[in-house]
Amino acid sequence: MPSPSPSVLISEVGPRDGLQSVARTMPTADKLAWISALHAAGLREIEVCSFVPAKHLPQMADATEVVRHALTLPGLTVMALVPNLRGAEAALAAGVHKLTLPVSASEAHSLANVRMTRAQMVDEVRRVVALRNERAPHVKVEVGLSTAFGCTIQGVVPEDEVVRLAAQVIEAGADDAGLSDTTGYANPAQVRRLFQRVRAEIGAHAGAAHLHNTRGLGLANCLAAFDVGVRSFDSSLGGLGGCPYAPGASGNVVTEDLVFMFEAMGIATGIDIERLLAARAPLQAGLPGEALYGMLPEAGLPKGFAPGATYG
Ligand code: ZN
Repeated sequence: MPSPSPSVLISEVGPRDGLQSVARTMPTADKLAWISALHAAGLREIEVCSFVPAKHLPQMADATEVVRHALTLPGLTVMALVPNLRGAEAALAAGVHKLTLPVSASEAHSLANVRMTRAQMVDEVRRVVALRNERAPHVKVEVGLSTAFGCTIQGVVPEDEVVRLAAQVIEAGADDAGLSDTTGYANPAQVRRLFQRVRAEIGAHAGAAHLHNTRGLGLANCLAAFDVGVRSFDSSLGGLGGCPYAPGASGNVVTEDLVFMFEAMGIATGIDIERLLAARAPLQAGLPGEALYGMLPEAGLPKGFAPGATYG
């Protein structure tokens, strides 16, 4: 049976968000094998690396080589995180299809994470967009508003500030602005409310949901976002990842569990669950002994499970 066109886009962030939060460096050959396995499972957007100085993140020193490999995989949107203009220059030179820039909704987190204020980051977005327009107009620029649901440093992040920042980055030329629960503070009511408010402000520029499972609400939060119209979700195989500047924040939403939830509900993801589970092997091979998470990988698929495509 031909697989239906996906109703949601699952964007795998493990090779970037996951690997940069692990102290060890995965050997390049293992990264390439892992990314190929993710692609073989049907993932069509992968954040493969970040372009940051190797002295800050030795785990990402092979970014250009990783991008070169990912570009050979048919139909894949190759995405890289860039913290600033210099990173964007390197990513565009490497040939990525999409850039993602983190802009902290919390001023305190922004200073800790990139040593810039929010206003400076909005200016940086403007410079990155200008560079993109000049060098590679087909490349998409996405902003992820990190700590949008709360911050381990400053605590509450006022929703008005998140909505205003979303408007500012779109005004600066970003194609879309998503919301990231960097610290795992979000709850479903908050997710529903904030995505609705952001959509009311920036319309179709409202982007992906990047949610964490730090306090067990990852899937509930994804479903809440889906219910208010979000169709793009970041997740990480085995739940690898977190944020080194948000103490205690570990665990992106687990890709395997997220895909299972949607497929069980009849919402097509385009992803083959068996192959997705098989993609854990190359991850484990590259990081022997690293803790991986996920309920579906532990329990297996229900007897008689049929991935669904019945959602209207
Ligand atoms: Zn994350």
